[in-house]
Amino acid sequence: YKTLRLILGDQLNLQHPWYAERDPSILYVLMEIRTETDYVWHHIQKACAFFAAMEAFAANLQQLEHAVHYLKLDDPANQQSIAANCGNLIQQHQIKKFEYQLPDEYRLDEMLKAYSKQLGIASQVYDTEHFFSSRDELGLFFASKKGLLMETFYREMRKKHGILLNGKEPAGGKWNFDEENRRKLPKNHKPYPPLLFNNNVRPQYNRLVQAGVKTIGNINPEQFYWPISREQALELLQHFTAHCLPLFGTFQDAMHTDEWSIYHARLSFAMNSKMLSPKEVVQAAIAAWQSAAGEIGINQLEGFIRQILGWREYMRGIYWLKMPDFANSNYFEHSRKLPDWYWTGKTKMNCLKHSIGQSLQHAYAHHIQRLMITGNFALLAGIDPDDVDFWYLGIYIDAIEWVEITNTRGMSQFADGGITGSKPYTASANYIHKQSNYCEQCKYDRSKRIGDDACPFNSLYWNFHDQHRAKLQHNPRLSMVYRLWDRMTAQDREAILLRADYCLEYIEEL
Ligand code: FAD
Ligand code: SF4
Repeated sequence: YKTLRLILGDQLNLQHPWYAERDPSILYVLMEIRTETDYVWHHIQKACAFFAAMEAFAANLQQLEHAVHYLKLDDPANQQSIAANCGNLIQQHQIKKFEYQLPDEYRLDEMLKAYSKQLGIASQVYDTEHFFSSRDELGLFFASKKGLLMETFYREMRKKHGILLNGKEPAGGKWNFDEENRRKLPKNHKPYPPLLFNNNVRPQYNRLVQAGVKTIGNINPEQFYWPISREQALELLQHFTAHCLPLFGTFQDAMHTDEWSIYHARLSFAMNSKMLSPKEVVQAAIAAWQSAAGEIGINQLEGFIRQILGWREYMRGIYWLKMPDFANSNYFEHSRKLPDWYWTGKTKMNCLKHSIGQSLQHAYAHHIQRLMITGNFALLAGIDPDDVDFWYLGIYIDAIEWVEITNTRGMSQFADGGITGSKPYTASANYIHKQSNYCEQCKYDRSKRIGDDACPFNSLYWNFHDQHRAKLQHNPRLSMVYRLWDRMTAQDREAILLRADYCLEYIEEL
């Protein structure tokens, strides 16, 4: 072989131009390594999903007669790092050129840049050709503008890529249909059941266990239901457009104790591993909407496109604009340790019990559970953003730093001081009750602020805003909050702050 091409675990894009032609002088390498399995405690389903999808991808390449070297975790020749493993192959095959695709993670980007420099042979880096926008496109777009609003970038993406437009105007007459998309799941409404695959990941599971990799969460390795191949990813996309898209927007923010995915796509793993491209997902949704001849509302479609063409591209752009400083941001200087029950779900707060419980069970929670339940509590309780990131980066099947940290530290914890959001996402029990049935079966009383059975969110909400008054009171979107707080009697305020103190002191027992 003359050339060694490295394929990272989240670069499983069979449509990449690399594979258009078979070249016998090229050796492709994929590897399962401890540097990737050990940087956080990954959910066991996430670790198995990546290994299984990588193996399926390698098998696909071999069927296409590409030369592939797949290093398993327990291969005696595995040196457990990219540099050492590539070094061995370069030496063994007297390789003349090293090639890789742009990593999405800052850590790997820096490592591979440095590695290629000191190699002593030629090297070349390629775009992954996965995203709508390039790494620095967001930064360039906002360079001449004030602020970094997602909505501005999203509209630019719609225009640039000609998506959901009527001439120059937005299809349906509006850019944003969020107003129509905030409904709770009605009683007795049963969402379409999620499509679950029947994969066997026993071999990958055994490798992880035997190597002693520390993981979290549950799994049934013989019935592993996440997509691990391009065929399955396409099937899941088809399932989504046929059965979930028609009500996606309407119930996008709904939460329910009996349902773990409602009408959500569960396509994030397939997209983040690049088995599916965001472009084909967007196109499939538009095609389904067109062929439904008016049966799928534009609010459903726009709500979905906004997530992918808007939020997903935006978060990636912010990541490359703000890293590495972003990873250390802590605007509120929060330092409390993450309660142990985040790792077990053993809390009396029903919303957290369910959101954490299903995350451990399925390696998945939908956006509002992540943002307004687990994220909201961590923010109100003043948890150290490092702890919060560590949890989110491990527990979800789709957790890769570029999209995890921007959502967690940025959007959810406001540790970036307002880059990804114009105000902190905080809410008391009122909001949680409005969007879910969690409060109905909770030990705590959602309508109370004080007393032993008062919902902890209620006092912690006021405590948070009181504590961070200097940083937040001039935010026009929060003026109402401070007006309400100031209108309470001093006695009421004191009682609420006392209850919050108690909740924080006994946080492990909540
Ligand atoms: P759907 O709700 O069906 O949305 C469709 C797609 O839109 C998703 O697959 C995803 O690709 C994209 N999308 C939606 N919201 C966002 C968003 N805010 N940012 C980027 N893409 C978005 N997403 C990840 O992919 N990886 C993460 O590690 C991750 N961590 C998060 C942490 C927190 C605290 C929060 C609040 C959100 C996080 N998200 C993350 C964003 C979002 O919650 C998930 O993308 C979504 O829940 C995945 O499920 P789904 O495929 O069913 O999404
Ligand atoms: Fe969560 Fe409070 Fe509702 Fe219980 S009452 S489910 S703790 S918001």
